[in-house]
Order: sequence, then C-alpha cells, then structure tokens
Amino acid sequence: MRRKLIVGNWKMNGSLAMNAELLSGIREGLAGIDCDLAICVPFPYLPQCQAALEGTDVALGAQDVSAHAVGAYTGQISTRMLLDFGCKYVIVGHSERREYCNESDELVANKVQRALAGGLTPIVCVGESLYDKEEGRTAEVVGRQINTVLSVLEEREVCDIVVAYEPVWAIGTGKTPSPLAVEEVHAMLREQMIRKNPDAIECVRILYGGSMKPGNAEELLHMPDIDGGLIGGAALKASDFLAIARQA
Ligand code: PGA
Repeated sequence: MRRKLIVGNWKMNGSLAMNAELLSGIREGLAGIDCDLAICVPFPYLPQCQAALEGTDVALGAQDVSAHAVGAYTGQISTRMLLDFGCKYVIVGHSERREYCNESDELVANKVQRALAGGLTPIVCVGESLYDKEEGRTAEVVGRQINTVLSVLEEREVCDIVVAYEPVWAIGTGKTPSPLAVEEVHAMLREQMIRKNPDAIECVRILYGGSMKPGNAEELLHMPDIDGGLIGGAALKASDFLAIARQA
C-alpha cells in the first residue's frame, strides 16, 4: 500500500507573524492524522519552520533548488543548503517556475538529478495548460514532461521521486478535473514509470494538485492512483490543510 502524502505549497506567501500562527495551528491539529505530511515554504522561512516543526512528523521542503552543486551561481540555493535546514523534499518544475522562470523540461530533469544526488526527495510537477487540454494534448504534454525526467534517471532512482500532476488550468482557479479524469492521467504516468522500473507500481507516489480543498479531497484521494495532494491556497489555513490530511 502506498502511504498517502499531503504537501502544502506555500508559494510566495507568508511573513514571520503569519507563519507563526499557521505553524502553531498545524502543530495543534495533528492528532488523528494518518498520512505523511509536509510543507514546502519560501527559503527565508526554512529556519522558522524547522524550529516550529521540531518533534512533529511534519516534514519540511523547499519550492526550488539549483541544478548546480556549489559555486558562482548568484541567487541560487543548493541541495546542501536545504539539508542544513532539515529539508526532506523539494518541489521541482512547478508550472509557475516553468512559466515565469522559463524552466525547460531539460532543466527540470537536471534539477531532479541534482536533488536526488544531494539526498532530497524531488516532488516533480507535470501538467498541461488549458490550451493543451482543449487541443486534446494532455497525455502528450504530461507524457513528454515525465519522460524527460525518466530519461536522466537510473532505474533504481525512479523509486526515489514523488510526482505531482497539476493541470495548470486548475491551479488557484477553483476548477478541478473529475476524479476519473485525474485517475486516467495518474494511471498513464504510473505506466510510464513502470516501464522504467516495475517497482513503480508500489514505490512511487503520484499527488494531485490544483484547487484541492476539504470539499473535494475525499473523492480525489479515493482513486487508486491518487496517492496524495499538493495543496496551494488551502495550505495557508491550518484548518483546511489538516481537514484535507484527515481525509487521506
Ligand atoms: P492550488 O495550488 O491548490 O492553490 O490550486 C496548487 C499548486 O500550485 O501546487
């Protein structure tokens, strides 16, 4: 059985004061949650979050990492730095980075390799735009995105990644595909991974992201290949984030 994983993606939100309230809300509401939990926070808040989560099972992660190990890369953050602050996960290839920072499939694949080499678990994001969806190209686009990553991995490394399917048109819009439509894409993604490593049937968790909230989480999380969620907006309210986790 793949254990469910619920990850909060805070994006570029928060302040020391806001985080303190959110973190204590999370700490206080953990009783009765039976899934893996993580939050991926802006870099400057990693020490605050690390301290606040100490002694809990909530894992910490970042939202990006450099494809380089160390050196003259002004403004970039290395895997080593993330490990210094207790990170376990790093989101790689979020559609907002693909779009606003021009991250290509190849760069995303390099970052995944770097994260793995550095001992972090990459949460690899894939997803089609509204245009792609309307053109009927979801499988093609998502397939290309995952295959570019798989092409740089060793067979055994397939088990060390988490995948997040996030249709771009569902992110922050309040729109979600039907659970069956998500399941279809997840099954296709799993099939691609199984081709590289048969163990992917059990070892790889595929999260859904895009307007997941307490009201729609349960039916999504019920599908056989939906192993959790990557939560944006709803992760900024402790009660919503925990309500989703309670359904996992
Ligand atoms: P959302 O964001 O839950 O606000 O749609 C999800 C994400 O982009 O990770």
